[in-house]
Amino acid sequence: MIPPESPDIAGALAWARGYIAPPEARLLLRRVHQCSAAHLAAWPEKALPQAEWTTFRALVERRAVGVPMAYLIGEREFYGRGFMVGPEVLIPRPETELLVELALAHFSAMPHAKVLDMGTGSGVLAITLALELDRAEVCALDQSRAALSVAMSNAIRLGASVSFLCSDWYAELGEEHFHLIVANPPYVAENDPHLTLGDLRFEPREALAAGGNGLAGLALIAAGAGRRLENGGWLFMEHGHDQAAAVRGILADAGFAAIASWPDLAGIERVSGGRWTG
Ligand code: GLN
Repeated sequence: MIPPESPDIAGALAWARGYIAPPEARLLLRRVHQCSAAHLAAWPEKALPQAEWTTFRALVERRAVGVPMAYLIGEREFYGRGFMVGPEVLIPRPETELLVELALAHFSAMPHAKVLDMGTGSGVLAITLALELDRAEVCALDQSRAALSVAMSNAIRLGASVSFLCSDWYAELGEEHFHLIVANPPYVAENDPHLTLGDLRFEPREALAAGGNGLAGLALIAAGAGRRLENGGWLFMEHGHDQAAAVRGILADAGFAAIASWPDLAGIERVSGGRWTG
């Protein structure tokens, strides 16, 4: 379809309908034109400045080849807050809020809890816990410097006090001990066909997939957690829809007690964890 030369709002949206779903086109145009949904609806005949039209066209073309909306908008909501995201980090998923809820259920009565987030990505878990727990001391690590830079920007923007560390899992961590370790590590099996579909095609592979059956990261975190946890401390890890039994086995092998799995809003066992009793 030949794009019109200098369309109004209605013309730009009509052109975009040839490529992407209308609600997505409206979201992208709102971003570019910096306006509300009501504004778009109320002013269909308003001319679009040339620079905005060029930007909008580029966004629609990228969306048409599958680039996730979150990367095009540059933001995704998690636990009620807006987080900046880019192709350096996994797009936060609603099911990951279960990790936050479990952490709050176990630690909201404890001031000054020491918390470690393993593989923080955009920082959603570390930052949310720093803001929701009473004076928690939160450390977040990731092996990707690019991801850490996104997480740091999010912490500054949201006013969260988190210390960040570039580390391949526990490698660079000192002898500190924590009351709580949380992780949403890569856990998708290497040959899982989902990796070739939808948003996942554009997300960092190292944040999604862990060699072989996807359990390598989960096993490594569990095996090292005991040495880093205070007596009575908890480890909670997100995992795949069919990995709960395997992860409970991993936690048992690592010496955890009170091992359990918890369902997400879809009723799928999505987080497993246990208590370290030394
Ligand atoms: N839940 C994500 C998915 O399957 C994977 C996230 C992860 O690997 N931590 O799309």
